[in-house]
Amino acid sequence: MRIGQPLEHEVIIVGAGLAGTWAAMTAAQEGLTDVAVLSKIHPLRSHSGAAQGGIAAALGNVRPVADTGPRGPLEQVPEGDEPVDSWELHMFDTIKGSDWLGDQDAIEILVKDAIDILYKYENMGCVFSRTPDGRIAQRRFGGHQAPRANYAADRTGHVLLHTIHEQALRHGVNFYSEWYVLDLIVEDNVCRGLVALDILNGTIHTMRAKAVMFATGGYGRAFKITSNAFANTGDGVAIAYRAGVPLMDMEFVQFHPTGLYKHGILMSEACRGEGGYLLNADGERFMHRYAPDKMELAPRDLVSRSEQREIDAGRGAGEDGQGIYLDLRHLGKEKILKKLPEVRQIAISFLGTDPIEEPVLIQPTAHYSMGGIPTDIDGRVLANADGDLVEGFFAAGECACVSVHGANRLGSNSLLEASVFGRRAGYAIAKFMESGVEQQPVSGDPAEEQMDRIDAFLKNDGPELAEDVLRDLRQTMTEKCGIFRESDKLQEARHEVLKYQERMQNARVMDKGSCFNTDLLNAIEAEHLVTFSEVIVAGAVARQESRGAHSRTDFPDRDDDKWLFHTVAHRNGQSGPTLSYKPVTIDYEKYPPQARKY
Ligand SMILES: Cc1cc2nc3c(=O)[nH]c(=O)nc-3n(C[C@H](O)[C@H](O)[C@H](O)COP(=O)(O)OP(=O)(O)OC[C@H]3O[C@@H](n4cnc5c(N)ncnc54)[C@H](O)[C@@H]3O)c2cc1C
Repeated sequence: MRIGQPLEHEVIIVGAGLAGTWAAMTAAQEGLTDVAVLSKIHPLRSHSGAAQGGIAAALGNVRPVADTGPRGPLEQVPEGDEPVDSWELHMFDTIKGSDWLGDQDAIEILVKDAIDILYKYENMGCVFSRTPDGRIAQRRFGGHQAPRANYAADRTGHVLLHTIHEQALRHGVNFYSEWYVLDLIVEDNVCRGLVALDILNGTIHTMRAKAVMFATGGYGRAFKITSNAFANTGDGVAIAYRAGVPLMDMEFVQFHPTGLYKHGILMSEACRGEGGYLLNADGERFMHRYAPDKMELAPRDLVSRSEQREIDAGRGAGEDGQGIYLDLRHLGKEKILKKLPEVRQIAISFLGTDPIEEPVLIQPTAHYSMGGIPTDIDGRVLANADGDLVEGFFAAGECACVSVHGANRLGSNSLLEASVFGRRAGYAIAKFMESGVEQQPVSGDPAEEQMDRIDAFLKNDGPELAEDVLRDLRQTMTEKCGIFRESDKLQEARHEVLKYQERMQNARVMDKGSCFNTDLLNAIEAEHLVTFSEVIVAGAVARQESRGAHSRTDFPDRDDDKWLFHTVAHRNGQSGPTLSYKPVTIDYEKYPPQARKY
């Protein structure tokens, strides 16, 4: 490793998924000529491209066929018929899905902008699946009252990402592919740039910018079973936290009900949206016990807990009894091949099960991070619970918390969030630049500091490998801070995470080289994971209620009097974060908190 030339851009965006690319494209479209996007993997390998099922927007193109009931087949709505969906309905579903922890001003923007952003995608040439008369096809998703997940078979994220990436290139955005961001430079509450490693040749650069944005995605890799790609290690969240920026609502981690047994790889919610059943080891469709009305199409937090209850009651399937069956056989070969070709292939490749012939073994899998870097509705990062800003620092997408998902995200709302709030951040960055900001000086040598950090991994010669610490962390997080949580286990998790942080300080890597050293990158990512996991656990210990994805067996009820607040966590060094609380934005006239039943 060596230190390279300092670099400079007007705007640097970290992350080339939907959020980062929308922001970059929009800023460039608004006239900024020096916008750079850094991505630690090839931009088109960003996790947005792995999304399968759909992107929500109340276009109202299809409706259930009359008299076959809400779970029957769908038909296109004839031109001129009454609207079957609206942003208001989408808004209510999202608020209820969030267990009333979502900020309602942000949710209103999300669901209203949804319609425009979908047509933007269409205008840019995105290849959606279609209704017979050529409108964008829609399917059902959990917790949504209407079929409003707009899709391209089961490769929706792939087509959205390719579409927006193309447009960003067209607008002259400069992509740094396979550059790894190590540090964020914030002094006196002003963001001045960052430090990044050129993975290919091992040079570390200080990069100054007038505006920096993080769109670094989620952190499912903190858990043993996860649907997330290897890259989803929450780097941005950890880097911001280390730089003194707070994190919000980190205790809310979504477990998706249908990860492939033992692998965690996602079998899209579209499987249930298209009519798939969940069965226990006895072949029983058990959801009638937990959500008699919505059945398999209840929201994810509820379905995952129901599966876990079946498993805990000894009705789980698979060799260790930890599995559940996803049964698609009744959908028929033609529908599966047309609508779910990718998930079918995944089941065949990884389990040797063809869903056309047999039920597929699945289990709950860590999937989505509702919490993250707190922002306002324009992607501007908040410095504290009072709403002060970190000047020149923006965030959007899964690494951010604006917060539209509150305590539980509805499926298909996340591609939407990344697009809508990525675009808004792009506009906000352009406006910020118009105000005539100057490039700010940077004190000390941040690249040198990162060099020391890396050298420690390369020079440590103790017995501890970074990958062993990570394995233990993932075990702890899954067993003690997973779907169901309780005080004793959480306290153990808290101590264990602090121990992993200590162990990480003496950990080493095997590969000492400087070119494309993935062993080293894995170690840095592991360090990030042990860093922010303390926030997930601390938030979960403190929050003595059950809300959305945070389910405490010792406090099974939601407690609005005490806990209708966002958790804001600041790093304080040794013993875990300092927590404070921020009110939720609620329109008590229109959308007052209610009991959440499905
Ligand atoms: C398997 C799967 C299926 C999904 N299906 C759906 C769906 O059907 N509908 C839906 O709404 N949502 C879905 N989601 C969720 C949704 O895809 C994500 O929440 C969303 O795409 C996140 O977008 P993003 O732009 O925030 O981040 P990502 O697309 O994850 O991009 C993160 C970017 O940050 C970069 N990065 C991270 N750390 C660094 C670093 N240190 N240095 C440099 N670059 C860095 C990465 O290289 C990458 O470019 C799914 C998620 C998964 C895992």
